[in-house]
Amino acid sequence: MAIATVNPTTGETIKTFTPLTPEEIEAKITGAGRAFEEYKQIPFSQRSQWLGKAADILEAREKELATTMTIEMGKTLRSAGAEVQKCALVCRYYAENGVAFMEDAPSITDAAASFVRYQPLGIILAVMPWNFPLWQVFRFAAPALMAGNVGLLKHASNVPQCALAIEDILSKAGFPAGVFQTLLIGAPAVAPLMEDSRIKAATLTGSESAGISLAVAAAKQIKKTVLELGGSDPFIVLDSADIGKAVSTAVTARMLNNGQSCIGAKRFILHEAIADKFEASMIEKFKALKVGDPFDEATDIGPLATPSILQDIAAQVDKTVAMGGKIKFGGYKLDGPGNFYAPTILTDIPTGSPGQYEEFFGPVALLFRVPDISTAIALANDSPFGLGASAWTTKPEEIDRLVNEIEAGAVFINAMTKSDPRLPFGGTKRSGYGRELSKEGLYEFVNTKTVWIDSYH
Ligand code: NAP
Repeated sequence: MAIATVNPTTGETIKTFTPLTPEEIEAKITGAGRAFEEYKQIPFSQRSQWLGKAADILEAREKELATTMTIEMGKTLRSAGAEVQKCALVCRYYAENGVAFMEDAPSITDAAASFVRYQPLGIILAVMPWNFPLWQVFRFAAPALMAGNVGLLKHASNVPQCALAIEDILSKAGFPAGVFQTLLIGAPAVAPLMEDSRIKAATLTGSESAGISLAVAAAKQIKKTVLELGGSDPFIVLDSADIGKAVSTAVTARMLNNGQSCIGAKRFILHEAIADKFEASMIEKFKALKVGDPFDEATDIGPLATPSILQDIAAQVDKTVAMGGKIKFGGYKLDGPGNFYAPTILTDIPTGSPGQYEEFFGPVALLFRVPDISTAIALANDSPFGLGASAWTTKPEEIDRLVNEIEAGAVFINAMTKSDPRLPFGGTKRSGYGRELSKEGLYEFVNTKTVWIDSYH
């Protein structure tokens, strides 16, 4: 895939970039290694100040950064602005809490002193997706830099200007040269990087195939990886739920980011007592959604990020329908330039169809009906993925079962699934492993060193 800014609203190529040569990549890795030797000595308080400054810069440049995101991948300008603010939030979270997370953690044993010391690993490679072009990177970079690591970013090929802007922000915030660098390289250049002994670990957010490729290369060198992969999150609505609130939230949770969020609600599992009402209300709300120019304040849904994502979602819908699924709303590409797909509702999802087992990365809601909570949980878990889940009920015994029995990295009750710097984020099953955010995210890329001092003499 060419490294280029191609406006998904118009199809126009705005700017292309030449991938780095092997010599240029080598210079960046050398620079990162040199930077690490000094950066790991920098006091936590100084790292925290630089993160605070990065938050200030993000806030000051919100409009410009949001515009770049909207041009490169088509999210609405409004949601792009909110993403910039969230990046500032994660920088501030680690600026305020990172020092305490990194302090020695004493344990009481029969030694004179025993404690855990957290030490950075070195150069961490971050392979990131285009869907939240700033947020995905900052949620890696803020804890990694707080811990004393240095970062090399291989961003998705369709968001090069976002990638360069992030490097610029962290540099202007005061982080020394080499501490955070963007590598403009294609996907095939990633796996070979894992053979470089100077790169100590890697994190990847993206598709299963990309995750497998990176994890295999890292495993051959016994290097740590964190994988944040796809999801087909269930959104379970039981008969006691507040249906009005559940439907409104369902529409937001499905249409977030033009339908391209890993934790977007994708499979709506409805108790049969409320299914008709839920479906009718969802159709009404879908009808009211405005699809169009993401720069327009009134737009709810912009284009999909690339022509291939549009082809993929159209093919998944067509195949599910060919196998017996029913279209209740939408189900087609929109005419004209740009990668637009109509908000779509499918029901009667056939067993074994894409609608049952694949991730739908676009504005398509898949509706299922179940007779009871046990069937709802079984259907929710009958998926290769286990990222997030949202469930709606007012019965305490049902809440307990949902929390305990759903196989996912997060369960949200009577709310949509979201990420929050204060809480760990990640998946189970084929959604990946490891955690980002919170203190768990910071500890993914440190050496947790056990220290035992038997005596001081
Ligand atoms: P993708 O194709 O896997 O791309 C993600 C990143 O991986 C890009 O930088 C891409 O580079 C790179 N890449 C692709 N193939 C690779 C390979 N074989 N080896 C190394 N790197 C490779 O993902 P996508 O389809 O664009 O992104 C959407 C996916 O990400 C969805 O499945 C979504 O659910 C998932 N996602 C997960 C989370 C989470 O937190 N769990 C968050 C957001 C998105 P190029 O652009 O150069 O190909």
